[in-house]
Amino acid sequence: MIIGAGTAGLTAGIYASRLKLSTLILEDEIVGGQINDAYEVENYPGFMKVKGSDLTDIMKEQAIYAGAEIDEFDSIKKVDLADEFKIIETDSYRYKAKSVIVAAGAKKRPLPIPEEKKYLSKGIHYCELCDGHMYEGKHIVVVGGGNSAIGAALVLLKYASKLTIIHQFDSFNADKKTVDKLLANDKVEVIWNTEVRHGFGDKNLEKIEIENLLTKDKSMIDVDAMFVYIGHTPRTDMYKEFLEIDNYGNLIANEDCETKIKGVYAAGDVRAKKFRQLTTATSDGTIAALMVEEYIKNLN
Ligand SMILES: Cc1cc2nc3c(=O)[nH]c(=O)nc-3n(C[C@H](O)[C@H](O)[C@H](O)COP(=O)(O)OP(=O)(O)OC[C@H]3O[C@@H](n4cnc5c(N)ncnc54)[C@H](O)[C@@H]3O)c2cc1C
Repeated sequence: MIIGAGTAGLTAGIYASRLKLSTLILEDEIVGGQINDAYEVENYPGFMKVKGSDLTDIMKEQAIYAGAEIDEFDSIKKVDLADEFKIIETDSYRYKAKSVIVAAGAKKRPLPIPEEKKYLSKGIHYCELCDGHMYEGKHIVVVGGGNSAIGAALVLLKYASKLTIIHQFDSFNADKKTVDKLLANDKVEVIWNTEVRHGFGDKNLEKIEIENLLTKDKSMIDVDAMFVYIGHTPRTDMYKEFLEIDNYGNLIANEDCETKIKGVYAAGDVRAKKFRQLTTATSDGTIAALMVEEYIKNLN
């Protein structure tokens, strides 16, 4: 069983199925994981330039073609990884597996302001591809300065009359070519060394209060929407009882993706490691599936 149908999980699914292992991939959201949100991917070998969602479609098709089953939109309620057979209970089924690959990736971190919930989907958004079109001709703010924020800003420029990026540092931590493309557009303004403190508005977000981290000066700006990209947190709470987890919530596993429990592997962004990319996720997915095959062969 593979938990998570992102890049790591789908890769593991392709390899495990081709090794003739009976393979089920569990996904509680839409198949594809984080890369679904990528405007364009230009560093995945074999593709000069590809939309993240197109890449996902191909990976999904390839996993199914190889023989993997995918159970989509089914939430996991409980896992028990302690015994030889691993138990996974979802909303709909109770599964029993010889081996489990946790490829649960990471989830977007919510903006830490008191009004986040009040304006969620009413001016505060996390998915430019899903919600950007609602703000045609409007002032859009993007919060963040990594690849996700910059990629999203490029998408949102299609709609925005003005686009302001608010970043807590004084430089971006993103692909330089993409940053240059963005900054060349005169609709774009960047507010450096700044964080968002509050949101205001009747029903929808209308204004935000920002604070300059160097001067501590606070000011208000009028906005129509704020799209937030301030990192991800791993979704590992349900494994805490069984697996080792680092200070950031990542699962601890070795280079062969082995966790401290035999037959349980961690693959992709969920694994404690330095670099998190598509290529490292596919690498982990491959290794984890090959390790499962070896593990199950030795059980028999
Ligand atoms: C906007 C954006 C752009 C990016 N651009 C690039 C790029 O150009 N090049 C590059 O190399 N990398 C890029 N990345 C990083 C890359 O997308 C990730 O490193 C990679 O997708 C990680 O894959 P993963 O499978 O480990 O995790 P994820 O993609 O996070 O997938 C994990 C999946 O597991 C599911 N899941 C989690 N918990 C459960 C559960 N309990 N039950 C069922 N399912 C569960 C999630 O819903 C998700 O679908 C980008 C990331 C973002 C956000």
